[in-house]
Amino acid sequence: MFLFAQERVIHLNQLQLLWQLQKIDDDTKSLEEKLLNLQSVAKYNSKRKEVNSLVQKKKNIEERNMQQNKELKKEEMNLQKISADLQEISNKLYSGEVTNVKELEQMEKKVSLLKKEQSRKEEYVLGIMEDVEKEEKNLELLAEELGQQQLTLKKLKEQAQKEIAQLKASLEQRKREREELTKKIQEPFLKRYQILKEKNKGKVVACVVNGICEGCKVSVPSAFRAHILNEEMVYCENCGRILVLLEG
Ligand SMILES: [Zn+2]
Repeated sequence: MFLFAQERVIHLNQLQLLWQLQKIDDDTKSLEEKLLNLQSVAKYNSKRKEVNSLVQKKKNIEERNMQQNKELKKEEMNLQKISADLQEISNKLYSGEVTNVKELEQMEKKVSLLKKEQSRKEEYVLGIMEDVEKEEKNLELLAEELGQQQLTLKKLKEQAQKEIAQLKASLEQRKREREELTKKIQEPFLKRYQILKEKNKGKVVACVVNGICEGCKVSVPSAFRAHILNEEMVYCENCGRILVLLEG
């Protein structure tokens, strides 16, 4: 669209060229704002947080499973030891070696204690095994969800990167257009434009349409017209913008 305008640039006077510059700068500013506030980037960031928290959750469960498996091994060894102790005592009990009643009573008491311990530990081990099994199922579901979310994240990333690249290309284009345009603008006009750009936060040039400043919608004294047509820099009394007549 701007290329078309460029073809007509030859016929524009200095003030009108400033107006073109203003349009490029406005466009650049709005592209820069868009780049900073891209919805696709916000979506990507929010999804990334979600995925990271899932990764952490999975890690926590895996860590817990590892601990529980360690605990299982330990308790299984304890159970083996109890089983061996029980075997040893029963062998002794039934061998007839021990005849002392008190000693026999003590041994039977120990057997009873060991059996209690054995059944308590067996229950404990079973509980852990059930837990591990449940967590492993959770892990499977979590891994599946994570896979899907990571795929979504990848798509969101691609979308954001695409939009960023498009905006950056547009900004590059504006930059080139600006360079071309400023070559055609005389130094005093360009210098004044830059000074006002700093001072008035980018609001430098406005068109006069039907005797009204388009920048602030306040009417411009009719006497200004001749000065503007004479390519003099005339400023809106209300907003301070340089006034341009497009039809001139
Ligand atoms: Zn104005």
